[in-house]
Amino acid sequence: MAGDFVSGSDACRTCDLCERDNIYVLPHERMLVKHDGGSDNVPLVEFSGVAFIAKSTAYCPFYSTASHRCGIYEHRPFACRIYPLDVILHVEQGVENLWWVVHDTCPITQHLLSEGRKDFFLEWAARFERLMDDHLGEAFRRQDRAARGLEFLFRTPLKYTPIKPFVPAIEG
Ligand code: SF4
Repeated sequence: MAGDFVSGSDACRTCDLCERDNIYVLPHERMLVKHDGGSDNVPLVEFSGVAFIAKSTAYCPFYSTASHRCGIYEHRPFACRIYPLDVILHVEQGVENLWWVVHDTCPITQHLLSEGRKDFFLEWAARFERLMDDHLGEAFRRQDRAARGLEFLFRTPLKYTPIKPFVPAIEG
């Protein structure tokens, strides 16, 4: 599910770690996912008012382990489009705020950070942010709280590197 901004990486051809993650679906994305899923039985599960793609195996149900492709690629959720970037609640100097982070388990993250390329993620976070508004910030806040309240969803503890505070450019 790596975003287009990192697609083409050799790492993605052999790695499927992100396809095992729990994918949140933002409020305006629910209908898209339902449409592509083809029926009302689309695998969404809701916790604390936040929707996640439900899984019956280790993988996202839209992921083909045979072709290594996403079945809803054109309409995949925002969480997939920005991966390995993400927006979560992060505490810095005792203050909790929304931050852009990168998931450390992703080989692309490991490769770029080992080469001192944090600026790559900084630049892309800033680009995405220019298209975002306050309402999206509230959605990120809610999804992160819901996910953390459900730690049993996660097989491994969340490991990430903070990139920059989340500052949406558009006032809602
Ligand atoms: S929706 Fe598509 S890109 Fe996102 S995790 Fe599922 S298979 Fe991967």
